[in-house]
Amino acid sequence: MQGLRDPYREGASPVHRMSPRAKVAFTVGYILALTLTPPGAWEAFLGWALVWLAVALLSGVGLRRLLARSVVALPFVLAAASLLFRPGPPPYVGVTWGAVSLHISRDVIVRFVTVLLRSWLGVLATVLLLATTRFVDLARALRAWRVPAPLVNILVMTYRYLFVLVDEAGRMQRARTARSAAGPPGRLPRWQQVAWQARVTGQMAGALFLRSLERSERVYYAMLSRGFRGDVQPSPAREVNTHMTGPQDTHAVLHAHDLEFTYPDGHQALRGVTLHIARGEKVALVGPNGAGKSTLILHFNGILRPTRGRIWVDGLEVTEEHLPQIRARVGLVFQDPDDQLFSPTVFDDVAFGPRHMGLPEPEVQERVAEALAAVGLTGFEDRVPHHLSAGEKKRVAIATVLAMRPSILVLDEPTTGLDARARRALLRLLCELPVTMLIATHDLRLASVLCTRTLVMDGGRIVADGPTAELLRDADFLWAHGLESPWQAPDEVCTA
Ligand code: ADP
Repeated sequence: MQGLRDPYREGASPVHRMSPRAKVAFTVGYILALTLTPPGAWEAFLGWALVWLAVALLSGVGLRRLLARSVVALPFVLAAASLLFRPGPPPYVGVTWGAVSLHISRDVIVRFVTVLLRSWLGVLATVLLLATTRFVDLARALRAWRVPAPLVNILVMTYRYLFVLVDEAGRMQRARTARSAAGPPGRLPRWQQVAWQARVTGQMAGALFLRSLERSERVYYAMLSRGFRGDVQPSPAREVNTHMTGPQDTHAVLHAHDLEFTYPDGHQALRGVTLHIARGEKVALVGPNGAGKSTLILHFNGILRPTRGRIWVDGLEVTEEHLPQIRARVGLVFQDPDDQLFSPTVFDDVAFGPRHMGLPEPEVQERVAEALAAVGLTGFEDRVPHHLSAGEKKRVAIATVLAMRPSILVLDEPTTGLDARARRALLRLLCELPVTMLIATHDLRLASVLCTRTLVMDGGRIVADGPTAELLRDADFLWAHGLESPWQAPDEVCTA
């Protein structure tokens, strides 16, 4: 994450060290004072500007940077400019641009400049607050000042979304730069080069919008899987219903019968999937891209609902009524930890599930400590999730579901993007966790180390279900389903 900077690194001036609550109070007071300063009281506005300047100099952040960031005041300026076209009382001031001459009321001009100064100084004060206060502390200060939780949550999510946007934009920009040889030929006239640049930038902005939408949909799934039901306030604890409503096979902790699923665009991703997983089993779910693995695992948490067929978790049928209990029992770990981690600190992210289970705060803290210890990340509570390494993010993602003490872990491609050391540490962790596991993966070595049983999926169907060691020996069968045994000798692809 290069685009946005962590305000922690800005140095430690007295302004940085001041309590975030006091800074929030001063900023709000300053904006209030600006609002109450009457139109045309230019000496008072000069005084407020000097107060801001003194604090800004004391903070050592750099005037140029603060002023550059204040461009976000531009929409206010444009909105205020509409004032100029309103009728006002005499006297009038005449303005002439070439053939156009305009007579504006002096009173209107005074109001316009006042709105301009109020909004610009207000934005400058907010920019200074953001540049000298860590975002996490700011969110906590707002909560301490009893700012309504939905507002703080919206702020936190907007901040998170900003990082998603900057991240996606950075990736797209890198991809574009890497192919920059395909830029406009230098011999084209200047205006055509500008038009070409504008077209490429427009395409990038469109793609960025679509990608961010997809990403926010996945983040929303991750929130749902940890008990979020659209209410920002945690809901009260619910009785866990242990009444068995499922089939008589009480050993099956995950049970799916004849599942079919069709996406809204008409694509059928599951075609009659039936499976049973017993308590304590660790089962691999393998298959080529597009086999339907991710679609299937989203059903075990009730995020996707089958078009046909039924599912039971721990004997409870996956229905709207049972969703809170189901989501407390099935911990879903998404492939990309950036989809799973959406809070300003590791603590808040790991606490998200327990809080939405309605647990009291001391128990939430106990569970966070326990989950972070299980993944070897004690002491990471105050870290910013999107600043962690890929391996650390993956472990925090697992902690976010462990904190809900699930009896079943469902993981989507847990080793993707990890280096050898991080991969090995993760495998050891998964080996030691005493819970039932279903692991969708391409990593057949992981399957062989961790899972005694493997399910092979292809074309939305389970095409094999058996001991991992046996399945991995059948090279022809694996190859027919887009898989390759981890012990297979390198073939002749490069010797043609
Ligand atoms: P896998 O995880 O095995 O790679 P997926 O479950 O992601 O497979 O996808 C199964 C099939 O469903 C693929 O053909 C994929 O293109 C399609 N698919 C996945 N997500 C969507 C979606 N949101 N809308 C339409 N089709 C989808």
